[in-house]
Amino acid sequence: MIKQYTVFGNPVEQSLSPQIHALFAEQVQRRLEYSKTLVDETKFRESVAQYQNSGGHGCNVTLPFKGEAFELCDSVSDEAELAAAVNTIKFQPDGRLVGHNTDGSGLVRDIKSNHQINIEGKRILISGAGGACRGILYPLLASKPSLVTITNRSMDKAEALVEKFSEFGPVDALSGEQLKQSSLQYDIIINATSLSLKGETPDLDKNLVANGALAYDLSYSRSSDTAFVSWARGTEAGKATDGLGMLLEQAADAFFIWEDVRPKTRLILPKIR
Ligand code: NDP
Repeated sequence: MIKQYTVFGNPVEQSLSPQIHALFAEQVQRRLEYSKTLVDETKFRESVAQYQNSGGHGCNVTLPFKGEAFELCDSVSDEAELAAAVNTIKFQPDGRLVGHNTDGSGLVRDIKSNHQINIEGKRILISGAGGACRGILYPLLASKPSLVTITNRSMDKAEALVEKFSEFGPVDALSGEQLKQSSLQYDIIINATSLSLKGETPDLDKNLVANGALAYDLSYSRSSDTAFVSWARGTEAGKATDGLGMLLEQAADAFFIWEDVRPKTRLILPKIR
């Protein structure tokens, strides 16, 4: 039997997931098909039901449906609960939908395993307080940084995240103005805004970047550096990367949830890049 998986999104044309999962399946010798499904913004629930009824085994979920997927699932992992978002659903034989969020674990694995950077004891600055920031906060705090600072255009969102996640570790929210007056420097600076998609960067002072820091853009580009990566190259950062590694690692975690085997991502990244 060839197992069927898909990614639901809108837009979804740009998704690299079919290519990534085809490479995973080839590597671990599993017979599966992975497609892209463009869903009307009002028809997510019925599209998932239709796909499940037609024999699908599971799906990924991308923008703008991760919150709706969380509502739809019968049960969810702790990470998905805290993120209030689901990016991976496994269809159980009895028809139940089990939701997971692998975005945060994907980022942490990329930082630690691929970039060989230890998070413990480090100061982390996250610019952006949307769905992606919410998804990465718990896995980052579980890695025991000394501080996570969130800054965002809309500070109420950053403050709400601090309130929700402070039981898991040291996290605060600083406005752009407060950051300008701060003398702190950060070891890991994460761009979790969607600005790179427009070729723009968050308004961050270069002095916030500690010597040798890791600058990490969650957005990615296969053709050239993202705007944030280009900005970071003009700072004291020792390394600047986009989020392609995170994309690959979150996909490998999803593959593991479905197929019980984790592909070796190191061999796949150059093919995707
Ligand atoms: P959201 O729409 O939930 O959040 C967008 C964030 O960007 C908000 O913090 C928003 O601020 C900020 N922002 C948008 N426009 C501006 C602006 N003009 N000036 C300042 N801030 C702005 O998106 P997500 O959190 O879901 O995604 C963020 C990025 O992460 C995307 O580029 C996405 O592609 C990427 N991503 C990558 C993944 C990967 O696997 N590599 C996985 C998931 C996401 P405000 O709150 O004020 O509106």
